[in-house]
Amino acid sequence: MSLLRFDNVSKRYAGGHEALSEVSFSMAEGEMLFVTGHSGAGKSTLLRLIHLSERPSRGAVLINERNLNKVRGRGVALQRRRVGIVFQDHRLLTDRSVFENVAMPLVIAGVPRAEIDKRVRVVLEKVGLGEREKATPLELSSGEQQRVGIARAVVGRPALLVADEPTGNLDPQLAAEVMQLFASLPAAGTSVLVASHDLALVKRMRKRVLVLDHGRLVDDISPEDLAA
Ligand code: ADP
Ligand code: ADP
Repeated sequence: MSLLRFDNVSKRYAGGHEALSEVSFSMAEGEMLFVTGHSGAGKSTLLRLIHLSERPSRGAVLINERNLNKVRGRGVALQRRRVGIVFQDHRLLTDRSVFENVAMPLVIAGVPRAEIDKRVRVVLEKVGLGEREKATPLELSSGEQQRVGIARAVVGRPALLVADEPTGNLDPQLAAEVMQLFASLPAAGTSVLVASHDLALVKRMRKRVLVLDHGRLVDDISPEDLAA
């Protein structure tokens, strides 16, 4: 069974041209894959459809073979909790500590305090910020801020993590470190889909790559093909 499947998905924004045209692919559990393409190719749109911040004009997005078109009302918030999301600008709350930022999704989900404390500390250790839980985001470097954003996205143990240009504001060294962190997630049960226009960085990761061009899926490159 696929974890994520796009079945002939098209998306046209009100008044715009088609941002995605007849896109089909599937992603297995435990996979890490990249979506690349120039600016405007449709990468963010594809992620927004997974996260239910937009709906397809035609076709269907399925998670664990569940058609997201059928997820409505209260189901939307529940479904969103199963997908972690990381933004380029990380969108941290600057008046809250690192700990509180990462704890937020668990607080919203009503997880008991003792459980929250335990899970936040485990995740902060994993992203290398075990010593910084009391800091506020503005006291951190941009690489550390991005790692807080990743910790917040994975603390709820989502089956799938999507990230939109997560290394866009990072220097090459930090970008490579953040990518390695993503690459470690599938083994811990979180599959990862990363949108990035940084083709050089993407190629170095030796993972499957989907290529979008003007809303069309024009290539699906396996790690073996990348290596060749
Ligand atoms: P990418 O992330 O690859 O840069 P986007 O998915 O952001 O691509 O955009 C794909 C196309 O859809 C672009 O032509 C963009 O201008 C358009 N687009 C994106 N978001 C909207 C929106 N909310 N309303 C109208 N057009 C949009
Ligand atoms: P991204 O590359 O992450 O999509 P953008 O700067 O393209 O970031 O988009 C920022 C916001 O502007 C998004 O909410 C998107 O929906 C909206 N947007 C993008 N392109 C257009 C467009 N052509 N018309 C209207 N809204 C747009």
